Amino acid sequence: MATVSGHCYCGAIEFEVDGPEKFACFCYCESCQRAAGAPVVAWATYERSSFNVVLGEIHWHSSSAGVTRGVCAQCGSSMTYENKDRPGDIDLSLNCLDEPTAPVLRAHIWTEDKQPWFQIGDDLPVHKKTVE
Ligand SMILES: [Zn+2]
Ligand SMILES: [Zn+2]
Repeated sequence: MATVSGHCYCGAIEFEVDGPEKFACFCYCESCQRAAGAPVVAWATYERSSFNVVLGEIHWHSSSAGVTRGVCAQCGSSMTYENKDRPGDIDLSLNCLDEPTAPVLRAHIWTEDKQPWFQIGDDLPVHKKTVE
């Protein structure tokens, strides 16, 4: 089982998780946009039980009902997403991984929140909200 590692922008936080990912998608929800300061976030889903912080301490905050996001309190990097509806999962921002893992991105989700000036340029399935 390949170990996937990642870190925040400033390097205060490093983490590891067992790969490969279970799912990966692009999310356009307003929360992700504001948390990341970006029009879209690419997330990959891993087993929560295999996720370990190996350096520093993640700051956890509840961004909406049942949702916990993990950020670096020093640099603000938004790294993780957990939803109580998927208790065994943790989603990691692909942008925070050390090596490009070339995951198979499978969908665009929450496109009802997508910025009108952002154009999707592929043929992946599009979901107005989450994957049904
Ligand atoms: Zn940091
Ligand atoms: Zn989102």
